[in-house]
Amino acid sequence: MRRKNSAIPSFASALLVLPLLGTSVLSCGPTPTVVPDNTAATETPPSAEASGDQNNALLAAWAGPYGGVPAFDQMQLKDLEKAMTLAMNENLAEIDAIADNQEPPTFENTIVAQERSGARLNRVFSFWGIWSSNLSTPEFREIQGRMAPILSEFSSQITQNERLFSRVKAVHDSPELKSLSPAQQRLVQLTYDSFARNGATLNPAAKKRYAAINQRLAELHTKFSNNVLADEEGYVLYLSESQLGGLPASVKAAAAKAATDRDHAGEFAIANTRSSMDPFLTYSNERGLREQVWRSYYSRGGNGDKFDNNAIIAEILRLRHERITLLGYKNYAEWRLENRMAKTPERALELLEAVWPAAIARAHEEVQEMQALADKELAADKTSKKIKIEPWDYRYYADKVRKDKYDLDSNEVKEYLQLDKLREAMFMVAGELFGFSFTPVPEGSVPVFHEDVKVWEVTNKSNGTHIGLWYLDPYARPGKRSGAWATSYRGHATFDGAKTVLSSNNSNFSKAAPGQAVLISWDDATTYFHEFGHALHALSSKVTYPTLNNGVRDYTEFHSQLLERWLLTDKVIQGYLVHYKTGAPMPADLIAKIKKASTFNQGFSTTEYLASAIMDMRYHMTDPTGIDPATFERETLSKLKMPKQIVMRHRSTQFSHIFSGEGYSAGYYGYMWSDVLTADAAESFAEAPGGFYDPQQATKLVQFLFSPRNAVDPADAYRDFRGRDAEIEALMRDRGFSSKSKSKK
Ligand SMILES: [Zn+2]
Repeated sequence: MRRKNSAIPSFASALLVLPLLGTSVLSCGPTPTVVPDNTAATETPPSAEASGDQNNALLAAWAGPYGGVPAFDQMQLKDLEKAMTLAMNENLAEIDAIADNQEPPTFENTIVAQERSGARLNRVFSFWGIWSSNLSTPEFREIQGRMAPILSEFSSQITQNERLFSRVKAVHDSPELKSLSPAQQRLVQLTYDSFARNGATLNPAAKKRYAAINQRLAELHTKFSNNVLADEEGYVLYLSESQLGGLPASVKAAAAKAATDRDHAGEFAIANTRSSMDPFLTYSNERGLREQVWRSYYSRGGNGDKFDNNAIIAEILRLRHERITLLGYKNYAEWRLENRMAKTPERALELLEAVWPAAIARAHEEVQEMQALADKELAADKTSKKIKIEPWDYRYYADKVRKDKYDLDSNEVKEYLQLDKLREAMFMVAGELFGFSFTPVPEGSVPVFHEDVKVWEVTNKSNGTHIGLWYLDPYARPGKRSGAWATSYRGHATFDGAKTVLSSNNSNFSKAAPGQAVLISWDDATTYFHEFGHALHALSSKVTYPTLNNGVRDYTEFHSQLLERWLLTDKVIQGYLVHYKTGAPMPADLIAKIKKASTFNQGFSTTEYLASAIMDMRYHMTDPTGIDPATFERETLSKLKMPKQIVMRHRSTQFSHIFSGEGYSAGYYGYMWSDVLTADAAESFAEAPGGFYDPQQATKLVQFLFSPRNAVDPADAYRDFRGRDAEIEALMRDRGFSSKSKSKK
């Protein structure tokens, strides 16, 4: 998952965690999929239950070279449901065997045994992930719909298994714990927490209430998102050709298609979604229409009708609070952040509030620049009326300022960004920093699910040791979700024999004509490096147990964001950002323009993001008894002195990240948290004697930040790398903010 210009997360690019398997997926594209990362995969010989299913390729052990590879060339959708059912039952039987063990509970027979379980299910999920993300069809989505409640039930059967939890607790509380290695102790703690933080320690009456709360919350979350959707569909603006002033041809074409799709052929539809609203407000020179579009968009879920979300938010907050009170926490945010890098809501809030003054100061400057430009236009054209910049003017005038001050010709930039060269650049960076070497596997030696997919073997550059495989699926095709993402089919683990990594990167580039170079945009090149950062994080894992590969929400995007920084290093520019015809490296003045453009409009984007992040944290640190969300939002913004020309990126009644599920509740701050780490770590390279290729820094990068995954507390890992905590000043410089106070996080 990557965001453009740092603080612009979109709800859809959620990092989803399917708690039932204790593993997570790095979902970097705009469409979330419920597919667990296969990091917990361990090979199990086909069991007796599998007999009669020899023809089901999804259930078979992975055979062939490189420690076994998935038979992607033999996957058939008709096998999926049967394979899932069988693998889930097998996993439940394994869990029962662990729970019913007559021997006293030990680390080995309880915790390690759980790590070993579910291997076959994880393998089936690798195929599931391909269908869900790379090869989707209506038939698959039907299966997905049928399986969702079954998977949810399966998950509860594991997390609510009392006999299992009592054994986990016994290991957690036993004197044996002290004799274990730090990573093993962390594994015990993570396993224990996955039960305890979800109600396993409660008495029967409390457990019942806990379950009822969860059930009601699930209903409310769904209602919340359906209401937002209803207002997105209910407020479409239909325009005639004469009302399209200022819109570029591509926006007009999209609006024409949107109208035709809604049985309004001949008109132009502006849907009430971000992807329609944003370009309309940027380009339309019809100020009255801009206001109308703006009002519809930012009123979603708050129109006082049957789709209004205010009462739903209040109930969600009350139920979340009641639930964490059962568990003995002070507020929801405290419970949520306990296992994050930030650890406490106070620390997360401290970061957000430290950046806030500089963000709004910059926003005020941006408004002044825009006002000056509007006044100048007025002076030049006596027919136009004097205007004062309002929220629906921000994007429109910001774009004029951009053209005026930062003009960057995106087509000129593209001519230096060839897809193949960029991949070579990434391999060079991986070689220099991680000591990895990438070699294409012999054609046909590793099965792939589409002819576009290419596979490289990753080895240790100095001694040739096999590390894993890297699958690349670069091009768009029907049935493939949009965006870019990284995933692993198999994660590193050594506790049951060494497992090598099968990692993959996926994107949606357009194929060029035969013999032509694929040229991509600067943003896409950055994303390409970003996703490769996720792959390197998977490939450099040195953990012993699968669970220790899992990501930590406010930490896991840091590694991939950091890797983006190598795109602008001299070695990459000189050797790889070369003109597709002349071979000349990208000129210095173009690079200077790219760097300057990166600070454009940061007052706006940081302010709209921070307002939402602070609101999220405040909601979840407050006793919600009698709360009225509309009043709460207004008062919180007023205390913050929110600039009146900017609105929260997600107003409360449409804040799906935090109210249509719990994925980002009290977690929206995480984007900025990762950004601070990224900026601070990048500066440590910039300041090193060898710069971004400094060998000592590279060693520390791999040893402390990448290899340990979640075997070490992220805060400790970062301190080991940097010799101190991250500081926010580097981020302030990145965004072109002035910073006076020195603060740590
Ligand atoms: Zn990402």
